[in-house]
Amino acid sequence: MPNSDLLARSRAAVWHPCTQMKRHEALPLVPIARGEGAWLYDFDGRRYLDAVSSWWVNLFGHCNPRINAAVADQLGKLEHVMLAGFTHEPAVQLSERLAQLAPAGMGHCFYASDGASAVEIALKMSAHYWLNLGKPDKNGFVSLQNSYHGETLGALSVTDVALFRNAYGALLKHHATVPSPDWRLAAQGEGARDYALRCAELLEAHLQQHHASLAAFIVEPLVQGAAGMAMYHPVYLQRARALCDRYGVHLIADEIAVGMGRTGTMFACEQAENPPCPPLTKGGSAGDRKGCNSSTPSPSPLPNGGDGGISPDFLCLSKGISGGYLPLSLVMCTDNIYRAFYADEVARGFLHSHSYSGNPLACRAALATLDIFAQDGVLEANRSKAARFNHILRPLADHPKVRHFRNTGMIWAFEVDSPHRDFAQRCFTLALERELLLRPMDKTVYFMPPYIIGDAEMDMLVARTLGIVAHLC
Ligand SMILES: *Cc1c(COP(=O)(O)O)cnc(C)c1O
Repeated sequence: MPNSDLLARSRAAVWHPCTQMKRHEALPLVPIARGEGAWLYDFDGRRYLDAVSSWWVNLFGHCNPRINAAVADQLGKLEHVMLAGFTHEPAVQLSERLAQLAPAGMGHCFYASDGASAVEIALKMSAHYWLNLGKPDKNGFVSLQNSYHGETLGALSVTDVALFRNAYGALLKHHATVPSPDWRLAAQGEGARDYALRCAELLEAHLQQHHASLAAFIVEPLVQGAAGMAMYHPVYLQRARALCDRYGVHLIADEIAVGMGRTGTMFACEQAENPPCPPLTKGGSAGDRKGCNSSTPSPSPLPNGGDGGISPDFLCLSKGISGGYLPLSLVMCTDNIYRAFYADEVARGFLHSHSYSGNPLACRAALATLDIFAQDGVLEANRSKAARFNHILRPLADHPKVRHFRNTGMIWAFEVDSPHRDFAQRCFTLALERELLLRPMDKTVYFMPPYIIGDAEMDMLVARTLGIVAHLC
């Protein structure tokens, strides 16, 4: 039987990520044989609706025929070549097309393979910029409380998730955090916008005091993913941009999770001046619980870019950039940054590299992904999908054991008042039994489905999640 054999071999030979391996003595790994659309299939014909887009990467379904065709075509031409001293059409085209789509001024693209490396690059580039300008003391960073920017040492040093950090404290350089504008943390009766403005004042106080030793402020725009899909008012981004300008500190937008249409616009930074939802208040009434969701979907369409929004100094992308196909990440930056490295001396250049930087197959997958966005009017279609989803999610949002139901673009999240300390594990297991792949973070359940999810699949997801919540409360 392929299943049990594969499980045993996997446990013996593969050290799985973000996993206490001993848990798999009791909890079987899920063997996947193939994927199609929003579904994953095991060897016995069981199927799972991938409601978390395989760790937030998949946009247009598994084995998407159009992306498959692009990668296959590239395979017949050039699988890889080093990007130092050489170049190729897919990397050039991808850089050009992203510069067109991204917030204004992001004219230069630096490639790597995973999200954490993109964060490392942005941090190093920022500090090196200040060094090249003769300000070597500007080498510190500040990030939001509960932020997540990846788990390599540099990225982990600006990540504020205790579980991921604690064992490595001695290896990390200390960087400060400032309060998160996550609206769940607002005071009783305080609106999300007011709370975001209050947090921006605290950011200002920090920048005012420390700007001489700060290279950059790094932030996950609109949604702090690993914090439990913490959502916040976009006015914070607008203020952060203005404050970084005022105090001469770079703004790094980590759009690794939220970029590529996930928040309703191609990039979350585009919404900085365009609040997608009415001010929120925290509190007990059912009306308050609506929060930033869309029981009242925004009547005015969100911009597709260009009008409104902010431009960061650095924009980090990964996850959805290749449609969830191949490891690819990149950092876009302004011409001002680029020019600070452009000199006769080698050492002033950015001497950072990864073997697979700008891999042609991954770039072709990314180009095919951008084609689908353009050809299928994906952002607009997602707005109708999100409105429909919010409508059918009403019973869940109003469930007496559900708190802080929230939505931004194609991300939904809520907390469940469950007595079970191992809620996340139980929910994951019950979901698998009901053909769903859900992976709660603590007591936060979230949906981050591929954009191709259909009406029937949405209906099934909602109905079965309601059943699971009922079972665990
Ligand atoms: C996933 C993620 C990263 C890290 O990306 P990896 O490819 O997992 O290294 C960094 N920042 C954010 C916001 C992320 O969601």
